[in-house]
Amino acid sequence: AAPLAFLGGIASAARQGIVVKGGNFLESLVKADTFIFDKTGTLTQGEFRVARIKAVGMTEEELLKLVAHVESYSNHPLAKSLADAYGKELDPDSVRSVKEKPGFGISATYEGQRVHVGSRRMMDAKRLLVDEINEPGTVVYVCVGREYAGYVLVQDQVKEEAKATLTWLKEKYRAILVMLTGDTEKTGRAVGRELHMDYVYTDLLPEDKLEQLEDFMSIQGEAEKLVCVGDGINDAPMLARADVGIAMGNLGSEAAIEAADVILVKDDLHGIVALMKIAKETLRSVS
Ligand code: ADP
Ligand code: MG
Repeated sequence: AAPLAFLGGIASAARQGIVVKGGNFLESLVKADTFIFDKTGTLTQGEFRVARIKAVGMTEEELLKLVAHVESYSNHPLAKSLADAYGKELDPDSVRSVKEKPGFGISATYEGQRVHVGSRRMMDAKRLLVDEINEPGTVVYVCVGREYAGYVLVQDQVKEEAKATLTWLKEKYRAILVMLTGDTEKTGRAVGRELHMDYVYTDLLPEDKLEQLEDFMSIQGEAEKLVCVGDGINDAPMLARADVGIAMGNLGSEAAIEAADVILVKDDLHGIVALMKIAKETLRSVS
């Protein structure tokens, strides 16, 4: 091989804000036929707008305050948006004993009470009866002590460049496009349809994401490689396992960046197209 050509490829990637941790990943990218994407923060902006609030046994303002305080200890894209939605200053010392569980949500002691903020799955685990929401978006449920305290319905948007990037991968590269998400079926399917994904799997815990990825890997030929793109701590296992793991740099959790082989520092999906072109040029100059 010609190591200098690979260094050249890595350098030109770096100039476009793409960190490639080794020349071998450029080699694998040329053989990529399957692309697995996380949804929240990867294909979507991860900036949630509050669409509706329902508070039970307190005011909406009190509910938002409590949620914002607990979420101030989380790095999940939902967390920052919920803190922004509250918009007032937070008192971090009022929150203790924080426990976050990927795919479920976050729990903490706030002003002497145990508070749980998270998914339907989390409320089911607490045996709580909650409102059914039939609107697009992600529902963040709240439980205080052992009582249901309401929900915040939030909505996220697909990244502006997502459609063009995925279309390019499909048309120029004949790639198989897969979306794996911890979000619900309704929300996941809507995004999958909008982006013309070939396969959509929803309601996945981190270990489920890894299992799905391994299913796709197990049916690949030797000359075919699998690329995985994600941003969250819940994506770290599959980023590590994929032939090429790509982490979104801007929003991305440290665990994802650590586990990945490539980092898109600018958090822009166009970087995938640039990366594929660089890989192709590099390999052409080597052979
Ligand atoms: P994705 O795979 O689409 O990036 P995640 O696996 O990160 O989604 O999250 C799945 C679900 O878990 C979220 O849609 C949300 O309902 C819940 N969740 C995870 N972390 C939190 C949190 N910090 N606060 C509230 N809900 C959370
Ligand atoms: Mg994510």
